[in-house]
Amino acid sequence: LLSRLPNVGTTIFSVMSALAAEKGAVNLGQGFPDFDCDPALVDAVAAAMRAGLNQYPLMPGVPALRQAIAAKVEALYGHAYDAGSEITVTAGATQALLTAILCCVHAGDEVIVIEPAYDSYLPAIELAGGSAVTVQMALGADGYYVPWAQVAAAVTAKTRLIMVNTPHNPTGSILRAADLEALADIVRGTDILVLSDEVYEHMVYDGVRHESLSRHAELARRAFIVSSFGKTYHVTGWKVGYVAAPAALTAEFRKVHQFNVFTVNTPMQHGLAAYMADPAPYCQLPAFYQRKRDLFRDGLKHTRFRLLPADGTYFQCVDYSAISSLAENDFAQWLTAEVGVAAIPVSAFYRKPRESGIVRFCFAKKDETLGAALARLATL
Ligand code: PMP
Ligand code: GLN
Repeated sequence: LLSRLPNVGTTIFSVMSALAAEKGAVNLGQGFPDFDCDPALVDAVAAAMRAGLNQYPLMPGVPALRQAIAAKVEALYGHAYDAGSEITVTAGATQALLTAILCCVHAGDEVIVIEPAYDSYLPAIELAGGSAVTVQMALGADGYYVPWAQVAAAVTAKTRLIMVNTPHNPTGSILRAADLEALADIVRGTDILVLSDEVYEHMVYDGVRHESLSRHAELARRAFIVSSFGKTYHVTGWKVGYVAAPAALTAEFRKVHQFNVFTVNTPMQHGLAAYMADPAPYCQLPAFYQRKRDLFRDGLKHTRFRLLPADGTYFQCVDYSAISSLAENDFAQWLTAEVGVAAIPVSAFYRKPRESGIVRFCFAKKDETLGAALARLATL
């Protein structure tokens, strides 16, 4: 078979989780909580199942859930999306990203991707027949940032889409209002669309607010904005997310969506809709994760790891160059096998692996898990 994805292997997340299991390492690699979700959320889904809500929902998603999403986005970011024509429930953010790319990228189109980039972006562009044009984030004293002049320089007549991710996996950096202005300056007067991956929207720390592209009226008019309940409600295995986009973009999105998955499982949508009535769970998320971030950072302060800023997401990047000169992948394997803590090499988020001497840890873990990892890392 002639491969559609000749350069793609097994994702780094699966590889490192398998190695962590084999070596009995504490798994701070793949990003997922090791604690359970709120039992009230499970009850809400179970109640929907018992109420017989077990057949196909409407193609774009259960209306009550789309209304709850629209209400939340309006309350938090001030943009009123129409639940009927501008919100679509997806099978996680991964499907939302792929479907958005498939619906607007034609063969030969260019898509600007900022690296390091979440590992599904480049294969999705390749499947659409597009070509990814990568721009590397810069690393300064305040952490990673997007060099917008380089993004502007990467635009050509073939540019169809620019992808952004805030809060950013793996670097934990976030876009600020000035970044949104810079992006708006680049796309103004063009027909370039924007795909904004905001799955970590509720994980922003130190009182800083999340700059959703939906806050920016000009960008929102040309943006697909993607989020995921897996991150927000500690249910990564449920694979339910959504895309918010203007009606014209949503209409094209749904043409692909209906033949991609058609629709997303019914009882979970009803359960999520009921659970969303209370904003407390997502409003409390920044404080919940900031405490874990600080616990983890404090524990690493006495090691030779150099901590990079962690403004958002549930990831902490560290520079290990004072500890080892191994390449990132080798260091992550060594750390897993010999020290007993799994991490993800940041080089895996680049098309052409770049060696920066940085690995990513996930701190979405029970305090005792973080404590066990820190005890092992303390010797370094
Ligand atoms: N985008 C980013 C940046 C992510 O970190 C993840 C989670 N792995 C996803 C998308 C995919 O989310 P989901 O599990 O909802 O498909
Ligand atoms: N988003 C998670 C991470 O970055 C993992 C998702 C996956 O395993 N595909 O670690």
